[in-house]
Amino acid sequence: MNAARERDPIGVIGTGYVGLVTAAGFAELGSEVWCVDIDQTKIERLKRGESPIYEPGLEELLARNSERLHFSTDPLSAFEHARLLFVAVGTPPTYSGDADLSAVHAVVDAIPASEASQADQHALVMKSTVPCGTGASLQRVLGEQGKGGLGYVSCPEFLKEGSAVDDFLHPDRVVVGDDGGWAGDAVVDLYAPLKAPLVRTDIASAEMVKLASNAFLATKISFINEIANVCEETGADVLEVARGMGLDRRIGGHFLRPGIGFGGSCFPKDVSALKQLAGNSGYHFQLLTAVIEVNELQKRRVVSKLQKHLGSLVGKRITLLGLAFKANTNDMREASSLVLAARLQADGAQVSAYDPIAEQEARKLMTGVHFAPSALDAVEGADACVLVTEWPEFAELDWGAVSERMAGRLVVDGRNFVDREALREAGFIYEGIGR
Ligand code: NAD
Repeated sequence: MNAARERDPIGVIGTGYVGLVTAAGFAELGSEVWCVDIDQTKIERLKRGESPIYEPGLEELLARNSERLHFSTDPLSAFEHARLLFVAVGTPPTYSGDADLSAVHAVVDAIPASEASQADQHALVMKSTVPCGTGASLQRVLGEQGKGGLGYVSCPEFLKEGSAVDDFLHPDRVVVGDDGGWAGDAVVDLYAPLKAPLVRTDIASAEMVKLASNAFLATKISFINEIANVCEETGADVLEVARGMGLDRRIGGHFLRPGIGFGGSCFPKDVSALKQLAGNSGYHFQLLTAVIEVNELQKRRVVSKLQKHLGSLVGKRITLLGLAFKANTNDMREASSLVLAARLQADGAQVSAYDPIAEQEARKLMTGVHFAPSALDAVEGADACVLVTEWPEFAELDWGAVSERMAGRLVVDGRNFVDREALREAGFIYEGIGR
């Protein structure tokens, strides 16, 4: 089999954040893309031209390339039209902290076995984040199922929610792990127009690049959060400290922003999956154990900041501004706001909240929270408000109007995001992180 011609059709299995952005991105580069998802409602919405997720620029990209994008719940539609089948199904954590690979196995099982010659012309391209060793074990499973001719490529995804389209079109690097053969070359060809640095390697190393990258970024966050906590004890300002550190090129300024802990669908699960993977292989990854613990404690530190000023939280009204795990996404998976709201309610507080985009998702995961239609409505009668997500509109808030609506004066800025001096001038008590 020769390498796939540039812009051959591709299949994408799983149309979530990664799958849909990958599909729209490759369609933008000129490929016909055959998308498959088991979620009928999602597929219906996509067929109507609606994006089931909020991601800046995605709706425009889908609309612009609608003729090249095909949506179905039938995996055979992708198999019939495309040789490369990108797998972008979820790999959530199990109770043990390992990655749940059941969706990946369901995809493997759905590949028809009958025509072995057909299978030889296809390859799975793993975009989902999977433990190191998954490629090898899936290849064994494929062999047992009589689909051993199917190619396998590990092509981990590094996009960030909130800037996923831009990240797809301008990746820092493309990692392609394979064991030779046409499929790895075909994936490299597909990404070639993006002119990104290429890391061509073996499957296990490609899988590990992804896990190690996320674990390192999470470590950087927990590290600066601990520095922030020490700054609070010693009178230093963590923003000054981070600026001074970040200018050292060996350290770099990215991911040195202290806050209320990392969340989202990737960092918590990938850090835990790597820790678990190490443990299962007989190695105790002490550093990651600490990274996870620091992160859990960080989410809860806001509660003690509130108690410092308000005393007991019983009956107190606390407003959460922003709920999504970060700005520019409606993703609520592992959002710090979930832990925070639950902790506040457990301490007897009444919680109100406003998020410009994530309310619908938040309602599925939160109980007893009053959802307001705007930031100003959310702070009505509040004893304190906590800035949880750095939505741009919160930087523009009219704090004079906020102070008229609030009962109290306390603002806890969980992202060091709003203008501290302006708030103090407006008569607020400002509590940041590490300052
Ligand atoms: P998601 O939950 O948004 O999307 C997964 C999709 O797969 C869903 O639409 C689901 O219905 C579908 N699906 C599940 N089983 C299926 C099956 N058998 N056949 C077809 N479709 C099926 O997940 P996501 O955030 O896009 O993440 C996908 C993978 O990419 C995960 O492994 C994740 O760790 C990894 N990843 C995510 C990000 C991110 O920022 N979200 C970034 C890099 C890597």
